[in-house]
Amino acid sequence: MSHPYPKPVLFRTRNKREIHRAGWIIPDSVNVIQNGYLEIENGRIKGIHSGVPREACTDHGPGVLMPPLVNAHVHLELSALENRIPLDKGFQSWVKTLLEERAALGRDVLVRAAKKSILDLLTWGNLYVGEISTLGTTKALLENSGLKGVFFQEFLGTAVEKGCVQKKDGLSFSVAGHAPHTSSPDLLRALKRQSRSMGLPFSIHVAESEAESDFIFQKKGPWADFLTLRGIDYRSWDLGSKTPVAYLDGMGLLDPLTLAVHLLQVTPTDMDILARSQVKVCICPRSNHNLHGRLPDIERMIQKGIRPALGTDSLASCDSLNIWDEMGFIAHHYPGLDPRTIFSMATHNGAKALGLEHVTGTIAQGKRADFIYRPMDPKTENEVFERMVFNEH
Ligand SMILES: [Zn+2]
Repeated sequence: MSHPYPKPVLFRTRNKREIHRAGWIIPDSVNVIQNGYLEIENGRIKGIHSGVPREACTDHGPGVLMPPLVNAHVHLELSALENRIPLDKGFQSWVKTLLEERAALGRDVLVRAAKKSILDLLTWGNLYVGEISTLGTTKALLENSGLKGVFFQEFLGTAVEKGCVQKKDGLSFSVAGHAPHTSSPDLLRALKRQSRSMGLPFSIHVAESEAESDFIFQKKGPWADFLTLRGIDYRSWDLGSKTPVAYLDGMGLLDPLTLAVHLLQVTPTDMDILARSQVKVCICPRSNHNLHGRLPDIERMIQKGIRPALGTDSLASCDSLNIWDEMGFIAHHYPGLDPRTIFSMATHNGAKALGLEHVTGTIAQGKRADFIYRPMDPKTENEVFERMVFNEH
């Protein structure tokens, strides 16, 4: 991976008292302080000030102190599949090859590659993640990695399973259903009950592929054949004449504690459902572009009051897990989006999507003293956000 832009430095301050100064403090996309400093006590933000501190401080320079980035949807478990799966043979073939390759590689290889990805995330200031794991290979890794966020144990098929749900200070454990076209309604409802009982987010891929939408709408087609081949009996599922979003809404699965990922195939009515239900939304535009040749309608989402978080999906469909790259891609492909909006997607919206708004996503009094310093020397407030999202010096 090569990155043309300057490396940020990640700080996780737990000391009794520290002062950090920089040319710009960006607590969130609205409040901007030129020449300011952070006052930290016992690992929490105590104050955000403008001016020059009177006591000894760490002076970072002319750049920006800002919240750490949030990758709200990633599969570290699939990092070993980087460059191993052709992206031009269609989605169904991609899924099939992925399952075969994953099985062939074996646990040790998957773990080694995931470890490397974790270090890469930390190096680039992506401190919070929503990790989706089907095999459980990344659970212990994440617990000891320094990364924070939510580990989602993912299930699919028809058996009603029980996962580990546990709310913790650094890394919580919750459950995910794979998708409406791969998981039975009974399984999805049971998983949702488990996560809801602990006040944790439940994650699910929704409206990603045409195959998914066609299957949910028609209850037949290539995906139906694929399921039958894999021994998944879908005959009792309440499918037909509805979109994936409407289908999940009908099951009562869309609420503020659900994280709906992708939303590539959505109708105007679906957008209304998403907005009304206040479901959290995570988009992965680079992965969508590579796998499906299309992009989510972010502008429409924003118009409807939806505030998407950003994810990268895995290295099997995306060339990095770095949210700086995702921001850069969005800035180039959605020229109408305000850079501040893109910045919020990578920070504040991500924290909300993972249920972590009370501890991170912005720099605010009482939140964890996790932050990054991003080197640059901007002259104006607008320049700060533009350089950040376009990955410029
Ligand atoms: Zn995914």
